[in-house]
Amino acid sequence: MTSKEERVFRFAPSPNGYLHLGHAYSALLNFDLARQCGGRLLLRIEDIDTRRARPEFEAAIYEDLAWLGLDWERPVRRQSEHFGDYARALDRLDAMGLIYACDCKRSDIAQMAAGKRDWPRDPDGSPLYPGTCRSKPRRTAREVLAEGGLALRLDMRRASTLAGQGLTWREFGADSPSLRRGAADDPQGTTIAADPAEWGDVVLVRKDTPASYHIAVVVDDALQGVTDVVRGKDLFEATSLHRLLQRLLDLPAPDYRHHGLVLDENGEKLAKSVASTALRALRAEGWTPADVRRRVGL
Ligand code: GLU
Repeated sequence: MTSKEERVFRFAPSPNGYLHLGHAYSALLNFDLARQCGGRLLLRIEDIDTRRARPEFEAAIYEDLAWLGLDWERPVRRQSEHFGDYARALDRLDAMGLIYACDCKRSDIAQMAAGKRDWPRDPDGSPLYPGTCRSKPRRTAREVLAEGGLALRLDMRRASTLAGQGLTWREFGADSPSLRRGAADDPQGTTIAADPAEWGDVVLVRKDTPASYHIAVVVDDALQGVTDVVRGKDLFEATSLHRLLQRLLDLPAPDYRHHGLVLDENGEKLAKSVASTALRALRAEGWTPADVRRRVGL
């Protein structure tokens, strides 16, 4: 990326709960970094999981972010309005022979792995899919979905072979105050070698969700011209998969910053389900946006 290029940041929450201090850290970091470099900040509503996304949570996102003092470009992209974009990306992967239909249930896979201590697991700890359905007769992605198939998976071995060597990304510091002051402090970043194989044959579409987070995020980041992805460390490993999909789909690679997660007093990761750290609960208790900034170290 050259310094002349306009930089585009995004904060991309899922409206399936109220924003908590961890989201505030991510949103404020994006906002501050965009402002420091004269870049743009987008807000994207990641509501592909239509069973969990709720309009009241989306409304609360706008309210909480405005309270924090954030400003973002309109219109806001809502993923649930763009399933066609994700289906087209999937069709491309399918035409490359990289997708197969899978009829195994999550519980089937859990059962196969049960009690086997050396069963390989993905970075999130889920047992890797052994590829049971990989050699079944091929049907196109659209056929499978029309017939009510359970899931579509990426054939990781073929995808990795096709993507070739040298799959990397540039990771910049996010948490140290000096790095946050500007890109000049960390001009090169660190080159990270992507290792998508650790995810195995990931699910890209489920019957009840027409696109996975992984497909939607890479398609949207490219469509929206995002140059800088700033998000939690919990998505660091997923970046390997995102880089693989970007290369297969000829999409540009943004720069990445994976920031530390805000922890509670017990050192545990904050969860949307714990109401006490929700921004609106803190607001009701009398917290100000400055209190939030202090608490997250910004
Ligand atoms: N929607 C994701 C979340 O709320 C964030 C995705 C991303 O930043 O890439 O955790």
